[in-house]
Amino acid sequence: MKNYHIIILGPPGSGKGTQAKMIAERYGLEHISTGDIFRAKKNEDSELGRTIKDLIDNGKYVPDDITIKIVEEKLGSVNKGYILDGFPRTIPQADALKKFSSIDYVICIGVSDKTLVSRISSRLMCPCGESYNKVTKPPKVKGKCDKCQKKLYQRDDEKPKVVKERLKVYNEKTKPLLDYYKDVLVDIDGEPDIPQVFEQIKKVLD
Ligand code: AMP
Repeated sequence: MKNYHIIILGPPGSGKGTQAKMIAERYGLEHISTGDIFRAKKNEDSELGRTIKDLIDNGKYVPDDITIKIVEEKLGSVNKGYILDGFPRTIPQADALKKFSSIDYVICIGVSDKTLVSRISSRLMCPCGESYNKVTKPPKVKGKCDKCQKKLYQRDDEKPKVVKERLKVYNEKTKPLLDYYKDVLVDIDGEPDIPQVFEQIKKVLD
């Protein structure tokens, strides 16, 4: 168990969520995913829920003020090390984070656009939270969850048109963070399979 404060950065489809979970487990960290927080909020029957749903489903970012407030509140209740998955995503978010947290490492998972698009378009979700991939992790029965047999679906924000928009927004708003964090940045090659990517990360964090 280490008291690391880590940020994991990477474009949609880079596998940052998967790696973040593995890192959290190995080093006893709290995994804080703003994407997961917002996906839960978008199902709420409220003005904020509807605003967030509209933004996420169209590949846009949630406004900085809403995002910063949610993360600041969350970190206030965490009393161990943490890995931030999906935050910060803009320079104003990084500036705000600086005021309420120190950062030890920023792990950046690099993957080519071609790999990203093919990975995302083959991803399938189950309403129970389990995820599959038509190529790398297919369900035993086509279109059905191995665990609960419910029908699998494609996330609205993983449809090809929205994926293109998400990549564009990532390049415009999040890529500048690589330079912002250059002193603590660790570049990881995200092209190989999941265990191989994790090996590279362990080499740095161990
Ligand atoms: P993710 O699961 O990390 O790809 O996040 C899914 C979606 O949630 C993103 O495409 C954004 O619409 C929204 N989101 C997550 N984190 C942030 C953030 N830090 N700033 C703005 N929007 C975010």
